[in-house]
Amino acid sequence: MPLLAAALILLALGAVVLWLSRRQRQQAGLPAGRVIYADPKLWGQVEKPLFSARLNLTGKPDYLVDQGGLILPVEVKSGRTPSQPPDSHLFQLAAYCLLVEETFKVRPPYGILHYPKRTFAIDYTPELEAALAEILDEMRSWTGKRSVPRSHNQASRCAGCGYRSICDERL
Ligand code: SF4
Repeated sequence: MPLLAAALILLALGAVVLWLSRRQRQQAGLPAGRVIYADPKLWGQVEKPLFSARLNLTGKPDYLVDQGGLILPVEVKSGRTPSQPPDSHLFQLAAYCLLVEETFKVRPPYGILHYPKRTFAIDYTPELEAALAEILDEMRSWTGKRSVPRSHNQASRCAGCGYRSICDERL
């Protein structure tokens, strides 16, 4: 019985954490991912990186899918399948949505994040676009600086980073 009670408490805590993280994301204006079925057979390889001269931005999504004239970027992630995509994946996909719009002159309503066990549609909302623009502005403001502050508090990211041995900000 105590084991069952502990399991129920853990379950409830998990639900609260999930609810809090979703609420935090909504308050930040970032869209939550919608789980979808997407057929990889319809995804087309991207020959060369997309480029925006206006934004001085380039990037190459893993695939593009043509859905009745709408071009959607697809990013494939390996490793653990999250219950919701992390912000870094959202912004990477948002950058691809922006590049797709610049290149094909049609705004993608959403992009696709594909994990081993789940596929999410991420709405390319004006709020997500605005949050991306802020990040790009901030990144540009650091261009040419000798030292750039760490943008996260995840020791696991530093543990696997190729710059770890020379980075003063490593965790
Ligand atoms: S080691 Fe430095 S560059 Fe690498 S993830 Fe950590 S803070 Fe970023």
